[in-house]
Amino acid sequence: MPTAAFAPIAERLAAVRARIAEAARRAGRPADAVSLVAISKTHPAAAVEAAIAAGQRVFGENRVQEAEAKFPALKARYPDLRLHLVGPLQTNKARNAVRLFDVIHTLDRPRLAEALARAMDQEGRRPTLLVEVNIDAEPQKAGIAPEAADGFIADCRARWRLAPVGLMCIPPAGADPAPHFARLAAIAERNGLKELSMGMSDDFEIAVARGATLARIGTAIFGPRER
Ligand SMILES: *Cc1c(COP(=O)(O)O)cnc(C)c1O
Repeated sequence: MPTAAFAPIAERLAAVRARIAEAARRAGRPADAVSLVAISKTHPAAAVEAAIAAGQRVFGENRVQEAEAKFPALKARYPDLRLHLVGPLQTNKARNAVRLFDVIHTLDRPRLAEALARAMDQEGRRPTLLVEVNIDAEPQKAGIAPEAADGFIADCRARWRLAPVGLMCIPPAGADPAPHFARLAAIAERNGLKELSMGMSDDFEIAVARGATLARIGTAIFGPRER
């Protein structure tokens, strides 16, 4: 049973769900068009269990190792739990990621595509894939450059037999995210990709208005992370 320390999680989860539903309604989209990915990084398994007790089944982590410590036991107890990787993936962790995650949001370079294709063959397991786009083309950031996205998606399909279903982005901090979300939606549209992983605690309503189908929300559900 979740302890009292995690009691606010159920309330915050309900509030986030209501805000997503309202943002979808205002945008003329059905409430179930947006799937909430509860980002539990740095929070203990007990916090995840509090969210599970409140009906949440889709979670996200940004590090393979942390997820490996927390989630296998939870997945064994809750077979309908789905785990998303939203952080950068090193090629030498591809096989571990394929084993544990159901959705990987951060496919962003040819060497990783090659490593994931091989890992999927070895593991006999094919997680759903999204391509991360470095939407503001910041040099230090993960993600494929926007102008290289079409070519990379085509290569994923033709060279590595991977079938990404959508795109993910993290807009720059401190700027209006709306144009970045719109640009991501345009790249997805012209490549025939349905899923848009965009929107975090501070901007998910804007992302929902721009067509997000996967909202990655941590702080607004689990509270602030210790640094
Ligand atoms: C941590 C993280 C989130 C959640 O961020 P919050 O601001 O806590 O909602 C979303 N996406 C990615 C890639 C993250 O690393």
